[in-house]
Formats: sequence, C-alpha cells, structure tokens
Amino acid sequence: MSNDTKFLLDESKLPKAWYNINADMPVPPEPVLNPQTLEPVTPDFLSVLFPMSLIMQEISTEAQIEIPEPVREIYKLWRPTPMFRARRLELALDTPAHIYYKYEGVSPVGSHKPNTAVPQAFYNKEAGTKALTTETGAGQWGSALAMACNFFDLDLEVYMVKVSYNQKPYRRMVIENYGAEVYASPTDRTQYGRSVLAEHPDSPGSLGIAISEAVEAAATSGGAKKYSLGSVLNHVLMHQTVIGEETLLQMEMAGEYPDVIVACTGGGSNFGGFAFPFVRENLKNGKKTTIIAAEPAASPSLTRGTYTFDYGDTAKMAPVVKMHTLGHGFVPPTIHAGGLRYHGMAPQVSALVNNGDIQAQSVPQLETFQAAMAFTRAEGIIPAPESTHAIAVALREAMKCKESGEKKVIAFNLSGHGHFDMAAYDAFNKGQLEDYEYPAEAIAEAMKELPEVG
Ligand SMILES: *Cc1c(COP(=O)(O)O)cnc(C)c1O
Repeated sequence: MSNDTKFLLDESKLPKAWYNINADMPVPPEPVLNPQTLEPVTPDFLSVLFPMSLIMQEISTEAQIEIPEPVREIYKLWRPTPMFRARRLELALDTPAHIYYKYEGVSPVGSHKPNTAVPQAFYNKEAGTKALTTETGAGQWGSALAMACNFFDLDLEVYMVKVSYNQKPYRRMVIENYGAEVYASPTDRTQYGRSVLAEHPDSPGSLGIAISEAVEAAATSGGAKKYSLGSVLNHVLMHQTVIGEETLLQMEMAGEYPDVIVACTGGGSNFGGFAFPFVRENLKNGKKTTIIAAEPAASPSLTRGTYTFDYGDTAKMAPVVKMHTLGHGFVPPTIHAGGLRYHGMAPQVSALVNNGDIQAQSVPQLETFQAAMAFTRAEGIIPAPESTHAIAVALREAMKCKESGEKKVIAFNLSGHGHFDMAAYDAFNKGQLEDYEYPAEAIAEAMKELPEVG
C-alpha cells in the first residue's frame, strides 16, 4: 500500500477509449420511444437534434469507443485529474476506513461536465453544425458547453432555470465570458416557454421546462441548430467514463481496491462516468465493490420514484425512456444542489439499480452541508453542493466502519468545486437552510401523467 496522499497520472495515461457499458449490461436495454407515437424512435427523429456520430454512439454495443485525438488534446488541459487519499478526514473522523476521492473540480469550469461537452462540440463541428442549444440548471453544464463551443467555434444558446439564473449570477457571467447567450427559463422565446408563463407567471423553472425550450429551439430552427444534453443519455455517461478508467489506474498506484464507491446522481453522468468501469470489474472480473448512487431527499428519483417509461422533459417533446422517475411534471423544491433537480435518471443507472447491481441512498440537505463542512475543514476543498451528497454517503460508510472496526476502502467522486455556490454555504452557516422531503402526495400526483406504453 502506498504512503502517498495524491495519485497523479501523466498525460500518457489519459484513456484512449471511453467505456460503453451497453456491451456488458446484465439486462437488455429497453427501447427509446418517440414521444408522439410511443413507438421506438428512428434515427431520423433523433437526427433533428443530434449529429449521426452521437446517435451511433447512443445505440452502440461496442465496449470501447476510441476518443478522437482533438478531444484528447483538449482533455489534456486538465486531465488526468488527481485522486487523493483523504488522510486528514480519516483522522478527523477517527475511522479505520481508508477514504479516497477523485477530483473533477480541476477542470477549467470546475466540474466533470467538460468531459462530455468537448466531444459533443467536436462531433457537432465535424458534422457541420453551426450552433447548439441547451439547458442548464445550476449553470455548470452551460459553462462547460460554452467553453467547448468556444473551442470549436460554434454558437450557443443556453436556457438557464430561472431560480438558478437569479441565485447564481456568476455562472451566467462565466457562460457569457465564453461568448454564449443565456436566457432565464421559462422564456418568451419559445412557444412552450410562453405557455408556461401564461399559466404560471412566477414559475421558478425546472430542468424539465428548460429542456423543452432548448429542444423546441433546435427542432424549429430548420436544421440551423442542434441540441445538446449534459446528462442522462448513454453517450453522455460514456464520455464521462474517463473518470472511472483513470481512478482504476490510480487505485492500482495506491495499492488498494475499493470495497465501496459513491457518486452523486442528478441525471447520472458523473456517477456513470465514475462507477461504470467499476461495474464492469464487478460483472466481468469477479470484483465485489458495493456501488452507491447518492441523491437528494428533495429529488429522490432512484429511492422514491417508479421504474417506468416517462418523458424526458415537461412538454413531452424529448424521447420517452424507461427510467426511475418522479413524473415529468415534477417541479422540485429549490434546494441548492441545482444540478440534482431532475425528475428522471439515466436509463442505464436505473436498470442497474432495478437489477440490484448497484444501490441508491438519499440524503437530506442539512446532512450534505454538514458533511461538506467536515470535508472542507479536513481537506481544504470547498465542494459543489451536488458533490456533497457523495461525501455524505461516504461519511455514513466511514462511520459504520468506526462502529464495526472494519478497515474498508471507500472511494468517492468529488464532481466539482463550490466556489460559485457560496450563497448556499452562507445560508447554511447562518442556520437558514432547511431539510425538505418531497411529499408522497406530490409524487403520486405527478405519476398520473405517465405515457401509456403498451
Ligand atoms: C451537474 C452536476 C452534477 C449532477 O449531474 P450528473 O449528470 O448526475 O453528474 C453533479 N455534480 C456537479 C458538480 C455538477 O455540476
């Protein structure tokens, strides 16, 4: 076992391929359905929104997809990212567990999101796309795609959930610094946005609504614009697997193998990226790592949602997929982990939870901030409010080890830093943050509008 605190890979170890878990899924994939007909989608339907290269990745069953050289060159601006052993946190907790974390906050925009923003911009440029549309919650995805579009000289229109637009003005400014346009969603720029505003003039917005607006803007552009999604889809999770592939090499440097791994889940991309290579090792190479998805109690799709077919967006324009969902009409409470406020979950993550290959835990907001404080005061890094969910579950596991005396090896993904989220920490420090459990009646209500898939 190594005595080091940080584990750094040199650029030659940057992965040459993404891992496509579709090749190894223990259950066959469910079809993706056209939202109008509820029949399986055709590539034609998807090609209004995405370039063919990404559609082919979406349905590929090859285990390894080569990373294009121009993408690897840009990855080298921040990858490989470091993995740390949290020695000071272990001491502070007085736990026999060994705790490791992979840190994605070293990317230029401070999260894992550029891992897919860069290839998505690359493939669009290659296909001749001139402009992209997208949505963003907390602004992390908007920042990442704005940076990537700027690198590949593409225009970008960002529909930003209104409550975040108001709560996080610095993220909007970051997006604008890269040259993209940002609008507070619901907007009056789209038919769907106008219909929401007519009914709810004070709507705080939601990811589901912002997705509908961005999809409409691309679909009605006569081919001028394509759409880009920052999570949920297979190709997005696949692009993120550079995280887990690097971590496997870094655990080898550490001379240990994790008993437990944890990542937070909004749409499932940093979780999939971190965990899928470990799922592969469990499924194919006899490893027995416990793999946990950590989600907010206020937006609990995996732990309290239903595994069923549902629309990906509020206006029923995005494809229907089988996933854990709280209902596409779900408008989540305005918790500070803006990136985790989505009604659904990536189909592959959902299928693996449903099949018992991975687990899920939900965490109340206050526990996530308490965990963040313990982490910051031991390790120095201020985590993104989303990432604090992973920290909280890692702490739960470490405290179990303290009780039982077990020396488990725990690794979690620190998906980003929280430097633009200081208002949330300020509220926590002033005792103004509250817990919020999503009410069972609201879940039952939103579930009444599911598509009737035969
Ligand atoms: C967007 C975001 C998330 C949640 O999205 P996933 O697709 O579930 O990874 C988590 N952490 C950070 C820092 C984010 O920016």
